Amino acid sequence: MDDSVLSRRRTENTPPSPDSAQPSAIQPRRTELSYLKHWFFVLLSISTAILLLYRYGYSTDEAINPLDYKSRAQKLMETTPLIDGHNDLPYLLRLELKNKIYDATKFTFREGKNSLILWFFCCLTMKNYRISKSYRLGASEIRPHWRPILCPDISSLDDPNHNVRDTLEQIDVAKRFIAEYRPELRYCEHSSCVISAFKAGSIASMLGAEGLHQAGSAIGVIRQFFDLGVRYITLTHNCDNPFATAASTVTATEKDGGLTEFGKAAVLEMNRLGMMVDLSHVSHKTMRDVLDVTQSPVIFSHSACYALAKNYRNAPDDVLARLTDNGGVIMVFFVKRFLDAERPDAADMATAVDHIFHVAKVAGWDHVGIGADFDGTVTLADGIDDVSAYPLLIESILRRGATDEQVRKLLGENILRVWAQNEAIAARLQYVDQTKPVEEVWDGRKWTRWDNPLPVMIPGNLDRIRAQNYM
Ligand SMILES: [Zn+2]
Repeated sequence: MDDSVLSRRRTENTPPSPDSAQPSAIQPRRTELSYLKHWFFVLLSISTAILLLYRYGYSTDEAINPLDYKSRAQKLMETTPLIDGHNDLPYLLRLELKNKIYDATKFTFREGKNSLILWFFCCLTMKNYRISKSYRLGASEIRPHWRPILCPDISSLDDPNHNVRDTLEQIDVAKRFIAEYRPELRYCEHSSCVISAFKAGSIASMLGAEGLHQAGSAIGVIRQFFDLGVRYITLTHNCDNPFATAASTVTATEKDGGLTEFGKAAVLEMNRLGMMVDLSHVSHKTMRDVLDVTQSPVIFSHSACYALAKNYRNAPDDVLARLTDNGGVIMVFFVKRFLDAERPDAADMATAVDHIFHVAKVAGWDHVGIGADFDGTVTLADGIDDVSAYPLLIESILRRGATDEQVRKLLGENILRVWAQNEAIAARLQYVDQTKPVEEVWDGRKWTRWDNPLPVMIPGNLDRIRAQNYM
């Protein structure tokens, strides 16, 4: 889709003025618009109030010695939800259990005997850990697709059957998992739910998807993922797709096609839905292209800084700097080779803290978070093997000079703000601007139909899908 189409859609979706010559039948009535605007701002006010209540509702009566970093870290983590942007636990449920989670002799999650994750909990997009409990939790992403050695040709992605099926399966197992481990876990689809879950002592568990290949090259599937509860999608995984170029492609070929026109349409639809656009795994040009077109703040669910580790998987400084205007957040992960590209074995907790402070320096403390990538890699930085390291990590960040307010932002306030902004912008696009869903179709899409007689709806329609025989 070209820019003229985009601008045309915006024009077409702008409600007509009262003196417009448009037929009244297709005009939203003023009362309806006023009603929608009223409720939009009511909802916005409620969500803002919830955030403010959450932000300033802490008990701050206990004075802690500023040099007592351990106590400060503990207090911060007891009063602020730690939201981890990326955890692959549902992928392990698939690999280890074929998504059969009810056999307590084999899967002992609640007892903390799982060799990989102890008391972990998760769901799909973000994790929310509480150190005051005897369990740890988080959220994982839907990741039914395997890391390929060789990338498939994009044209082969026209067959969406397995990707979409497997993603639906992962949504299913993640939801069943969360339900099975209630009340420790609580499924959340809205940003305000995270706060109420945290205050109730539950771990908020949300869904995300790692790669738009999972959408079967169809924007309608993105819409259905949103309806099923997915709240972010990474535009690519480790291969290009019809929407965008992956960082791994640039590493292999030095060629960077960035975001495609079809990808731009998908980003705008994600904005309209309130689906956060995740730029982890994408190429640098894709990052810049998305920042040119998105109307909502973006996220990097698990990334690091290119200035400190020269891997195209990481975000360069010019992109980090643009987060200040965009409002987005980059959630730093702990995979060795992305923290230290030249000496990966040397990467440790201090290296991870270096990346967090680099984001803070270039973009500001309003734009940094944590997205460990636990359960998705075996090469984690020394000292950060699992969520039990988080108190030490936070202590280390405080020792480096961060204030309590900056750490609260890092822990969870930033990603909650970004999520709430995505929700508010989606509400405006849908209910105030009356923006219609995107209908763009990928150029490489093949349409098939069985060779059977069917009635004609539009006589002489040359776009009608032709009959053919197939098995
Ligand atoms: Zn990843």
